[in-house]
Amino acid sequence: MMMEDWLLYLLIVAAIGIGWWLGRRELSGGPGNVPPETLGPNYYNGLNYLLNEEPDRAVAAFIQELEVNQDTLETHLALGGLLRRRGELEKAVTVHENILAHAQLEKSAMLNVKLELARDYLLAGLLDRAEELSLTLSQESGEIRQQAHRITLEIYEREKEWRQAIEVAKLLAVGDDCKQYEKAISHYYCEIAEDWLNRKDPEKARQAIREAIGHDAVNARASLILGRIDVSEGLYREAIAALTRIKDQEAVYVPESLSQLKIAHEKGGRPPEELRSYLEECLKVVPSISIVLALATSMRDEIGDEAMAKYIANHLKHNPTIRGLTQLIDLHVDNTSGVAKQNLTILRSFAEALVADKPAYRCHECGYEGKKMFWHCPSCKDWATIKPIFGLEGE
Ligand SMILES: [Zn+2]
Repeated sequence: MMMEDWLLYLLIVAAIGIGWWLGRRELSGGPGNVPPETLGPNYYNGLNYLLNEEPDRAVAAFIQELEVNQDTLETHLALGGLLRRRGELEKAVTVHENILAHAQLEKSAMLNVKLELARDYLLAGLLDRAEELSLTLSQESGEIRQQAHRITLEIYEREKEWRQAIEVAKLLAVGDDCKQYEKAISHYYCEIAEDWLNRKDPEKARQAIREAIGHDAVNARASLILGRIDVSEGLYREAIAALTRIKDQEAVYVPESLSQLKIAHEKGGRPPEELRSYLEECLKVVPSISIVLALATSMRDEIGDEAMAKYIANHLKHNPTIRGLTQLIDLHVDNTSGVAKQNLTILRSFAEALVADKPAYRCHECGYEGKKMFWHCPSCKDWATIKPIFGLEGE
């Protein structure tokens, strides 16, 4: 746990204790008038737990004693929120349910507590309970309704219920939020398209991709999937048209398209210069080592290993990457013998070890890093925010 969290936690527990104590003083007729015997046993227990650094038991003791009303509501909510941040979801649920069970709150305050509870359920993976509560809250108006829709949307994303997610996201895609939710809807359709592709139904996949493009014309993922559908059906010219759109949509995803693009060019019997000139155009926008290697490979037969190595080395001068270096070593290993070959092989294993545990992708929103490409960030749940890492240890 973070140190600040811990301090804040102790402070809130102390605040609950003090609030409770002040409440007692008022009940018993004002300051300086509190005979020790009027403090309930839970107060002393709570204090003991606190002193013994057992804040969890202190919390339990205090929430039992401290009445929930408009004045103490914020403290209870802060405690619930903090428990949730610490990942203690069961305790957060207890705190929020306790508020609802005891408080004579105004309606708006009560609805806000219910939203908190729905979030607890969602994070705890109690999706049925979260959905039931968030759907009830969706019947309200204004900000509560919007918040409830957002929780419902997260539930459907977790359940991979993309059709239902689309319906809710359409309700949210208004005003300033329009672009953000249109992008999400486009990705829900991409998810549906991939499902159809996996079930070997390219026609249904195609329909879904049309919708995906309709909601976000610059979604590079839609072009990638469309390229895959076309390749799977032998429509190589169409596949190339779809895949080469990515350069203008979001060039960082060009490396993701290279394998399909290569297949489409080879099976479609296209002249090699065509692919090369496209890749050269891409390199002007995004200096990716994958593109350099694809280009170099396509020229290998024509220009030979030595010229290919020179080409890679030239790119590495401006944009050094370890992946490029290992490729360069490979080319030299093939053409040397004896001690030189041994030394190069050792050098290669060092270079490989340098990047072995390094992530290849990073989320631009939350900083999540991983070796695998995800369209939906596992951490911040945003769409298409994970991109290849550029630099020495990446692309
Ligand atoms: Zn993220």
